[in-house]
This record gives sequence, structure tokens and C-alpha cells, in this order.
Amino acid sequence: MADAIVIGSGPNGLVAANLLADAGWHVVVLEAADAPGGAVRSDRGVDPEFVSDLFSSFHPLAVASPAVRGLGLEEFGLRWSHAPAVLAHPLPDGRCATLHRDGGAPDPDRLERMFGAHDAAAWQRLADRWDRLDPHLVNALLTPFPPVRPGAAIAARLRPSGLLDLARFLALPVRRLAEEEFEGEGPGLLLAGCALHADLLPEAAGSGAFGWLMAMLGRRYGWPVPVGGASALTAALVGRLESAGGEVHCGQPVREVVVRNGTALGVRTADGRGHRAGRAVLADTAATALYGGLVGWEHLPGSLRRDMRRFQWDFATVKVDWALRGPVPWSAPAAGRAGTVHLGADLDELGDYAHQVLTGRLPARPFALFGQMTVADPTRSPSGTESAWAYTHVPQRVTADLGPDGITGRWDRREGEAMADRVERQVERFAPGFRDLVAARRILTPPVLHSLDGNLVGGALNGGTAAPHQQLFLRPVPGTAGPRTPVARLYLASASAHPGGGVHGACGANAARAALSAHRRSPARFLPAAGPRR
Ligand SMILES: Cc1cc2nc3c(=O)[nH]c(=O)nc-3n(C[C@H](O)[C@H](O)[C@H](O)COP(=O)(O)OP(=O)(O)OC[C@H]3O[C@@H](n4cnc5c(N)ncnc54)[C@H](O)[C@@H]3O)c2cc1C
Repeated sequence: MADAIVIGSGPNGLVAANLLADAGWHVVVLEAADAPGGAVRSDRGVDPEFVSDLFSSFHPLAVASPAVRGLGLEEFGLRWSHAPAVLAHPLPDGRCATLHRDGGAPDPDRLERMFGAHDAAAWQRLADRWDRLDPHLVNALLTPFPPVRPGAAIAARLRPSGLLDLARFLALPVRRLAEEEFEGEGPGLLLAGCALHADLLPEAAGSGAFGWLMAMLGRRYGWPVPVGGASALTAALVGRLESAGGEVHCGQPVREVVVRNGTALGVRTADGRGHRAGRAVLADTAATALYGGLVGWEHLPGSLRRDMRRFQWDFATVKVDWALRGPVPWSAPAAGRAGTVHLGADLDELGDYAHQVLTGRLPARPFALFGQMTVADPTRSPSGTESAWAYTHVPQRVTADLGPDGITGRWDRREGEAMADRVERQVERFAPGFRDLVAARRILTPPVLHSLDGNLVGGALNGGTAAPHQQLFLRPVPGTAGPRTPVARLYLASASAHPGGGVHGACGANAARAALSAHRRSPARFLPAAGPRR
């Protein structure tokens, strides 16, 4: 019998499993898909000579996360690679705002050349604010809420007036932040594009802080990619776990968490087999799949059922992967050196797009995040070619198509192709001739994403909205926030729990720590354990 069963082998599940194995627990991970990794996987499905990341690609959160860093994955084969520039936001007229990694040692001349003297100074003030709080802010975000120790460290660094100023700054919409700080449009666009990695409109409270966080992580750590593809990160997590005696079994969808007298005893897989867990069950699953799904409502309080009815998913996603015959012909050459390129003409276009997605209307001009993977890691495709992708957000429920294709949200083959063409037209605005380079493409519509990873419900990629009403102590729902659940020995370990989406493993780490601490507090309540396997 395992001490702990982890349902799902996404980054959160695997980080949790590693921490439990480090504590001497025997851990078994049961994964529904045929391969481990959740939304951290790569393949050669577009073209056998090209590695394509199926989902996540850039991993600043992993390198910044104490939970992942502490695992020492480099010892298990993980190597990081960086594009020459972190992020570019080209404009249709050929100008381009670019973000570089400086590791905390800024290059004022480069900043001034790019943004002009006024905005270079303003950008540097944002960087200084980050440096003053580093690493406590990241630690505060990636530890259980409330973040007592990092919070105290931040308070010690800022006087009360500084704390008030920080609180205001963190609440700012990115549009307002840009208005207050910058004269030109480049820096604000970089930040607004970063905020749209989550479902945060430029006008939404907190979008400034989210954009700033992603941009400053890029400045400090870069947005690195695993050499060889996203699966290399998963392989390191699995390799480390197995070396500590843990097991990962794929093709094992869990259908039920077995609960008796309010306590999780184990799980049942789709083949009808029962798997007992002596100490804990950790669910790296969507909150909506756990509550009322794997655990029946009869085992859960009525208030949770009511709260879960209000659970809000983040935007759906359409992703296109390409094998390109040559480098992307950007009008702004600087964009060719960045790993990530944001494609939207100006702040109004970004705002309109996000508002349309939020209100069910499929944008005619989709803001796209574009990944140049061979620029970031030359092992991804033959020399002179480019392994690329772009994704754009679409409504969870399409009520109207503002483009010419009559897309209804059925996402059948025709609608997928039409949306992919629309994304390619958006790329063409900034890189005329792009479509001539396409040797092969693969389209991942919302239902396809969901079928590949059950946590990507309706094509949502962050485990639920990143809006303030579903964050921190309100995630996934107010009464049952964080990793603890109403069922003893059952923990929510996925991005549906605080701190949410991204490859940082913090949700898994929080769940593992909660399980370990419950076991330490009352070991007698637990079933006899299989004993350490190390
Ligand atoms: C297209 C896309 C692009 C992204 N880009 C980035 C990026 O560049 N950088 C970044 O930091 N983040 C990115 N993200 C977000 C990030 O990948 C996720 O937030 C992260 O993977 C969440 O990790 P997780 O472990 O909570 O869940 P997941 O990674 O989704 O893993 C959950 C796993 O659990 C399994 N599972 C679910 N239910 C069951 C069950 N009943 N039985 C057994 N197994 C089950 C699933 O099959 C899956 O393998 C992206 C996501 C997507 C979809």
C-alpha cells in the first residue's frame, strides 16, 4: 500500500510527489493520460524533425519557484536555454518594444535606446521596486496564504507608507499604470501583454501587478525553456521521484476517491481497481472534477456545493503549432531574437480583444502570444527552420463571431481551421510572408486541449480565473480555499488552488506540506504505512 496517492502527474502533482517522497513516504502517482506531465509535454506530432511543446513552453515561474528550485532538477538532466531576448512586442509600423534578461544588473543605455530617457527611468523605477522586494514577493506569492514570513520581510523593508503605496500599486489596472508611468506606448504594451497570459483585461484591477510580475521575472531570470522540449522538465521530475522510490503509472484515470466516515482511504481507477493510501490522497485535478466528481456531494458540505456553482473558469484557448521552413519574417527585426512575441497593435486593441472574449464574442483580431522555440532552444528543429506556436484566448461560450467565419464555438474541423487562419492573419500583420513558410501545422481547439489534459476544462489553461475574486484565500472558493478539503487526508494540489496557474509547482508543494503537517500532528489516525522506500 502506498502512503500517498497523487491523482495526476502535472507539475503540481509531480512536485507534491517529490516532496512527499523526500519525507520518506512511498508515493504512487496515477495519471489518466498515456504520458506524464499534464500541461508540460512536448512531442514530434507536427513534423518528426520538429519538437513542439503541446502546452506550456516558457518557465520563468519554475526557475523562480522555491518549490521547483529546491528539487535540484539539473541533477536529473534538466538544462535551461534562453532566447537572446525574453519578450518582444512589435508594432505594425516596424517599431518594437523588447524585454531583456539582466539578472538584476540593468543596462541603462539599452533601456534608453529602446524606451527613451523618460520611460527608461520609469521602467527602472519599476525594476527597483521589484529588487527591493526580491525574493520576498515571489516567496509570498508561492507559499500558502497567509504568507507570514515573506510578508513580515516585506513589511520590514517598507515603512507603513511604503506598504500603502505597494498596496495601491498592486491593485492598479495595467492601463492606469501605463498612463501614470510612461509617455510612450512600448513599456505599457509589454506589461499589458504579460497580463493577458492570464484572463486579466488591461482595465482590470490587479492586471498591472500581474504584468509587472511576469515582466520582472523575465528581467531577473529570463523566460527559459527546457533544452529538448517541455517534456524534459517532466522527465526530470519523474526521474527524481523514481530515484526516491516513487512510482508513476500512466493510462490510469481515477474515477473515485474512496471516502469513509469523512476520510479519504484511497482511490478507484476506471478499470475498477482500488488503490489504498495509508496517509493521504492528493488531487492534481481541476476543483470542479474533484468536488462533486471524484468525491460525491454526499461527502461534502452543502456550502461547498453552493460555492462551486460560482467557480469561474478562465478564458478558453486555441493554440496553433507550426513547423516553419525558415525564420519568421518580422517587419521589426528585433522580434526575431525574442522567445515570446506578443501580437496586438496597441493597448486599445488588447483591451477590445479581452473585453470581447470576456463577453462571449470571438474577436476578429485575436491578440496572440507567439513562441519561437528554435530561437529559444536550437535543438527544437533543423538549422534554418523554426518550431513555432501561437495561442489566443477565446470565450468559454461563444455567443457571436465578430470575424467573417461564423464560428459558433462547436470547434469542429471547419471552425478550428478558420480560427487557425485568423491567428495566421494576425501574425501576417507583423510578419508579412509568414504563411508561405508554413510546412505543417496542428490546431489545438478547446475540446482538443481538454481531451489531452482533463484539467484544461473547456480549454482554460490556468485552473480557474486569475481575477481577484478567486485568488489567495478565495481560491478555489471562499469557504474551502487552499489545499485542505472538507475530507480528512484529501488535498487539492492543482492550479485550481492558490497560487493558481503556471508551472511553479507551488500548489502541489502547498498540498504536500499540508499532508505532511497533518500526519505529523496526529500520526495515530493514519493507516499503517508501507514505510520509507529510500
Ligand atoms: C496552451 C497552454 C500554454 C501554457 N503556457 C504556459 C507557460 O508558457 N508557462 C507557464 O508557466 N504556464 C503555462 N501554462 C499553464 C500551466 O501549464 C498550468 O498552469 C500547469 O500545467 C498546471 O499544473 P497542474 O499540475 O495543476 O495541472 P496539469 O498540468 O493540467 O496536470 C494535471 C494532470 O492531471 C491528470 N488528471 C486529471 N484528472 C485525472 C484523473 N481523474 N485521473 C488521473 N489523472 C488525472 C491530467 O491528465 C494531467 O496530466 C500553459 C497552459 C496551457 C494549456
